Amino acid sequence: MSPEEFRKFGKQVVDWIADYHAGIESHPVRSQVGPGEVRQRLPEHPPEEGESFEQVLADLDRVLMPGVTHWQHPSFFAYFPANATGPAILGDLLSSGLGVQGMVWATSPACTELETVVVDWLAELLGLPAHFRTDAAGGGVIQDSASSAVLVACLAALERAGGGQVARRGITARHVLYASAHTHSSLERAARMVGVGADNVRIVDVDPSTLAMDPAHLDALIRADLAAGAVPTMVCATIGTTSTTAIDPVRAIGEVCREHGVWLHVDAAYAGVAAVCPELRWINDGVAEFADSYCTNPHKWLLTNFDCSVLWLADRAPMIDALSILPEYLRNPATASGEVIDYRDWQVPLGRRFRALKLWSVLRWYGAAGLREHIRGTVGLAREFASWVREDPRFALLEPHPFGLVCFRPEFPGVPVEQANERTMRLMESLNDSGEVYLTHTKVDGRVLLRFAVGSPRTERRHVEAAWRRVRDAVDAAS
Ligand SMILES: *Cc1c(COP(=O)(O)O)cnc(C)c1O
Repeated sequence: MSPEEFRKFGKQVVDWIADYHAGIESHPVRSQVGPGEVRQRLPEHPPEEGESFEQVLADLDRVLMPGVTHWQHPSFFAYFPANATGPAILGDLLSSGLGVQGMVWATSPACTELETVVVDWLAELLGLPAHFRTDAAGGGVIQDSASSAVLVACLAALERAGGGQVARRGITARHVLYASAHTHSSLERAARMVGVGADNVRIVDVDPSTLAMDPAHLDALIRADLAAGAVPTMVCATIGTTSTTAIDPVRAIGEVCREHGVWLHVDAAYAGVAAVCPELRWINDGVAEFADSYCTNPHKWLLTNFDCSVLWLADRAPMIDALSILPEYLRNPATASGEVIDYRDWQVPLGRRFRALKLWSVLRWYGAAGLREHIRGTVGLAREFASWVREDPRFALLEPHPFGLVCFRPEFPGVPVEQANERTMRLMESLNDSGEVYLTHTKVDGRVLLRFAVGSPRTERRHVEAAWRRVRDAVDAAS
């Protein structure tokens, strides 16, 4: 594709995206296709001769779009938001256009140095401690996902717990990780990947009313493991669990970790970005004093398209000890001088994209004030939705709901739990089949709850009101 052809089709693609966003409400929120429908409409074999880009775009409209779920739709309330905004998309496009590999400083200095600046900026915007900054012992790095972040944290924790020998000798003791039943599944996957094994992930009890990890039970489990000769290695505390946005007591957990020398990883993948608002910084209580690593995803709620997850460390040394290998073909004077950061040592893959461009673009476009406005807008809408649920006796509401997620369920008086769960699921399916709104569910104490997650910058009060009307109508129809 020549530069002139690229210019022509590039403009078409940008127009396509702008039209898509402008007209997004004309689509059903959740794709309505069945399994295999998209695939069936695609050719079985790749083309022998090159085709025109117009044909690609035509097939995007004709074949793929029916199979797309519209995550940017203002009535998308499923899972968590995955904001893709103009400045983020353009920043990502520039990153693709430059096509650099930023594995070491020398392969593209700006890729590394901009990343250092934006992760330090973000630490400042979120009120995170000074020792997370790159000019201190710690530092931040952009990962593809919170799942990679917890894996890297786990490798660093193992290196520290194993006296700096695990990277060379492998695991020689029984290392144990601690989580709650509400911790994200990526922690157990990390345990499997590093060779700790799922059976060595202890599930700490939660307080039944707040669903937050119980520090006293954590302490008891760690003591029992120590007595049995195991090595308590890492605790994963969550600020804003995926299921219900419960908040583990990081400070109390941190005190237990400190006493036993256990690494504390704080997973704030969804909720951490809320700390751009000073009135929400209480969620990070204890992080400054106790967290060895901390992760939050701008790619969920902070207006930055996937992938962009930021991991900070209080001390980067154990991570670098765990991951650094310098093959001959990567040797270069800058690395040898020790004056530069080589982010390949801060992540699992070698290659890395220029992801900092999109985060930079977002932070500059919105500014701190714009980011705060987005978070506050979301929290306000969620609060309003929750107030309607609370006032309606046909529904039960899960409290508290400090962020953009509201969990609730219709009450079916006199109906046994299993049947009530089935009815709630059917009700949700009927809502999602309508294409007018999209919600997902979770289960707490054996009861199905609907999850209503606000968070798109396109979502206005009228979308939330319309969704509430639809939910009520569906309950009316079901009873
Ligand atoms: C979404 C989520 C994750 C996983 O995030 P990815 O970036 O998709 O890997 C991890 N932890 C929590 C609490 C989450 O909500």
